[in-house]
Amino acid sequence: MCRALLSPYKDENGDLITWSRFNCGVTTLNLPYIAMENNPERSEEVFWKNLDHYLSIVNRCTIWRVNHVAKIKSDVCPILWQQGGLAKLRPGQDLSSLVYGGYATVTTGYSGLYECTKYITDEGHWEEKGRIFANKVLDKLNENNKKLSEDLDTSVALYGTPQETLVDKFAKACIRDFGHVGDFSDRHYDTNSYHVPVFVNIDAFNKLKIEEEFSDKTLGGSISYIETPNMSGNIDAMLELINFIGDNCLYSEINSEISHCENPECMFEGYDFKKIVTDDGIKWQCPICGETERVRTSYRVCGYISNLTQVTRGRAEDIFDRVKHLNIEQSGKEE
Ligand SMILES: [Zn+2]
Repeated sequence: MCRALLSPYKDENGDLITWSRFNCGVTTLNLPYIAMENNPERSEEVFWKNLDHYLSIVNRCTIWRVNHVAKIKSDVCPILWQQGGLAKLRPGQDLSSLVYGGYATVTTGYSGLYECTKYITDEGHWEEKGRIFANKVLDKLNENNKKLSEDLDTSVALYGTPQETLVDKFAKACIRDFGHVGDFSDRHYDTNSYHVPVFVNIDAFNKLKIEEEFSDKTLGGSISYIETPNMSGNIDAMLELINFIGDNCLYSEINSEISHCENPECMFEGYDFKKIVTDDGIKWQCPICGETERVRTSYRVCGYISNLTQVTRGRAEDIFDRVKHLNIEQSGKEE
C-alpha cells in the first residue's frame, strides 16, 4: 500500500529494523455510516455503541487475516520469502515468525472523519466541538488497536485509507440507507480519512496545519494533500510550502492538474482542463480544441496521470469539487 507506514520494530539485538518488512492489509471503517445507523437523533452515545459493534467486526477480520497469512508457506514465492525479497526462511517454513511479534503490521483504516463529525456535532473536525469529538474517535481507534496488538502479538496500526473507488462505495451505502453521506448534502462521495473536505475554501498552510493533528494519530500511514494551479511562476512559494510540509507533516503531496490532450490534431500540454457536466457524467474538456472524450483527455488526479475512463460517479464528483489551496496570484501567472 503506497502510504502504509510500518511501526517501529527491534530485532533480538535491540536494533531497529526498517527494511524488508511488510503490511498484511487493511480493513476500513465507514465512519459516516457508523454515525448514522439507528441514530436519527444524532446521539453521540449511539455512535459509540455502533463503533464498538463495527470495531468488533474489524477485529475479527484482522485476526482472521493475521492467522491466515501466518500459515502461508515460504514456498508460495521463494524470491520473496526464501531468497531475501522480504525474508530468508527455509523451504516449507510458514510465515508465522514474521507475522507475529511486530515484524509485519496489519492495519485498521477509516474514512469520512469529516462527515461523521458533522453528523454528530454539527461541526467540521477543525472547529471547536468537532475537533474534540474527532480526536476522541481516533483515540478510541488507537486504543482498540493497542489492545488487539497485545492480544494477537502483532502490530495493528491506524491507517488513513486511500480511497479511490471506495469514496463511491461507502457513500452509496450511506445514501441507500440514510439518504445522504452524513452532512445532509447531495454529494455521492465521502471524504478521505481525516482530510478537510475537497470543497472547503481554505489556504494550503491552514489545511496542512489542521490535518497534522489527525495525521499524528494515524501512524499506520496517511497522506495530506493540497491542490495548486500551475506554480512554475512562483517557485519560492513552492519551496516555502515544501519546507512547511517538512516541518509539520508526516507525508503530503502537492497536486496540480497537469493536463494532456490526445486529440492528434491538438496535443495540448498544460494545466487545468475545464471540468464540465454532461449527460454522460462529469468530463474534462481541452481548452484549445474542446475535446471531451475521456480516452483522449488525460490529467493528473492525485499521484497519477490518468484519463479515468472507468471513473465512478462519486470519484468523478470528488475530483470535480476540488478547490485550489493556493490561488492564481500566488502562482505568479496571469490568469
Ligand atoms: Zn485539445
